[in-house]
Amino acid sequence: MENKAFTVSLTKNPLITMKVIPGHFTTSHFHISHYLDVSDLKTNALIAKDVARELAMPYLASILVDTIVCMEGMEVIGAYMAEELLQEGISVINSGSEIHVVTPMSNVNGNLIFQSNIQELILNRNIILLVASISSGRTISSALECLSYYGGELAGISALFNAYPDKSGKEIYSMFTNEDIPGYQIFSPGECSMCKEGRKLDAIITSEGYTEI
Ligand SMILES: [Zn+2]
Repeated sequence: MENKAFTVSLTKNPLITMKVIPGHFTTSHFHISHYLDVSDLKTNALIAKDVARELAMPYLASILVDTIVCMEGMEVIGAYMAEELLQEGISVINSGSEIHVVTPMSNVNGNLIFQSNIQELILNRNIILLVASISSGRTISSALECLSYYGGELAGISALFNAYPDKSGKEIYSMFTNEDIPGYQIFSPGECSMCKEGRKLDAIITSEGYTEI
C-alpha cells in the first residue's frame, strides 16, 4: 500500500506537501479511495506556519475574525493563522484586535459542545472554522450545527483538503482539492465500487491516522 504512495505539492509553495496513499479505506461512515497524510502539515512547526500563511490570505483584507475554531488537530495551524491575521501591516482589518483559538469537545453522545467559559468566544463572534480534510462533509456539518447552536457568525471555512461540493452557501477555502488527486472517490459503504469488485479493505482511517487490516 505504502509503495504506491505519491505526494502532491502546492504550486505556490513546494514545501507544503501532502502524502497520498491509494487503497481501499474505510472510516466510521464511508469508504474512500485515498488516504491523505496531512500530519506533517499540522505538526511540523515550520511547515504549519507556511500553511497558516496560505490559509490566512483570503481573510487578510476585509474579513473580521474574532475566533478560530479548530477541528481535527488543527490547533498549531490555527495559532499561526491568528498570528498572521493580527500582524500589523499585513492584515488591514484584524491587526491590533484579539483572536482566540479554541476547540470544541465531544459530549457523551458524540455531539460537539463548548464549555461555559468558552461560549462567550463563540456567541456573536466572527468565526473561522478550521478543519483538516473535508470529504463527506460530516465533520463540517456537525461543526456548523454546533457554531449555530452557540450563536457564532461564520466568517469562513478553511481546510487543508476539500472534496465536498459547496452546499452551505459559505465559500470553503482549501489548499488542496479532490482535483489534485486523480481518481479520488468517496462512497457510502453500500455503494462502494471497490467493495462491489470484491476488493478487500486495506485499512481503517481515524482522525489520528490509519490502521492496516
Ligand atoms: Zn468499499
